[in-house]
Amino acid sequence: MPTVKAYAAPSATAPLIPTEITRRPVGATDVLIAIRYAGICHSDIHLVRGDWGPVTYPQVVGHEIVGEVVEVGDAVTKHAVGDRVGVGCMVDSCRECENCLAGMENYCLKGNTQTYGSVDRDGTITQGGYSTHVVVDQDFVLKVPEAIPFEAAAPLLCAGITTYSPLAHWGAGPGKRVAVVGMGGLGHMAVKIAAQMGAEVTVLSRTLDKKDDALAFGATRHLSTMDDATFTDNADTFDLIVNTVSAALPLDRYLRMLRLDGTMVNVGAPPEPMPVHVFTLFGNRRSFAGSSIGSIAETQEMLDFCALHGIAPETELIGVDSINEAYERVLSSDVRYRFVIDTATL
Ligand SMILES: [Zn+2]
Ligand SMILES: [Zn+2]
Repeated sequence: MPTVKAYAAPSATAPLIPTEITRRPVGATDVLIAIRYAGICHSDIHLVRGDWGPVTYPQVVGHEIVGEVVEVGDAVTKHAVGDRVGVGCMVDSCRECENCLAGMENYCLKGNTQTYGSVDRDGTITQGGYSTHVVVDQDFVLKVPEAIPFEAAAPLLCAGITTYSPLAHWGAGPGKRVAVVGMGGLGHMAVKIAAQMGAEVTVLSRTLDKKDDALAFGATRHLSTMDDATFTDNADTFDLIVNTVSAALPLDRYLRMLRLDGTMVNVGAPPEPMPVHVFTLFGNRRSFAGSSIGSIAETQEMLDFCALHGIAPETELIGVDSINEAYERVLSSDVRYRFVIDTATL
């Protein structure tokens, strides 16, 4: 069992610290990846702090992973030593349920195996990307095109696919009006991708601090949700609202901005239920939906799309010693727009 360096949470309340963990031996269909960069996702913070349920500590998080293949199992056909690869939010699934067979492992009916904090096939708890190496089955490893700068590629594996998938599914494109709620790690990627798809993009956020960025990323408007006129002036306007905010919102106010057959899709994960008046949905035959990351095939499609069009997240590179400080800055929305850890500092 190879021992590798990592940065782990020892408990829900203590700062993350350097540690060593064991990775499973490289199996026949496994790929050993030397991790170069790992993004910091808000989910990492929620999980290590126990916000989403009990955690077995120490826990290493990180599900925006890029690196190089350094070893492959005997039966590996999809990747070779030296390849630039990525790993996102999941590392396995049951592979036999209706959804897995349809190529949508992210909706595995038995629950996909998450990159961290999940029970793996061998019964161990999966450990994420704040580490020097990881062993992952070849089917859950993505190819990272050369055209995407390596450190900028990392956040695509969660923030990129989480926003690309609903934009693609609900047909963001020419003639469609898309609103993006929130301009953080997810939101800024939603703006860039939706604009590249050809949609007319409006950003909705509390303040207008990031207006210049939003326009530079391809939005045509940036409106404050603190201003009542935003809601009244834009009634019956949007085909798609992508909500990246993880706090509860007054849904009816947002839903009333959807035009005929419009959909509001949640990719943010507020912990509490949010009430909806069905009458709001009657008007314009509106839908309220959710979306969870994307399939492996769709994640590859997203990486290739970003490479083709030169789309990349805005990142701030940090060493491991700055992870705890970065967590505080993520919680206070003081990052433009994604921290990426240089794992060479481990
Ligand atoms: Zn994430
Ligand atoms: Zn399945």
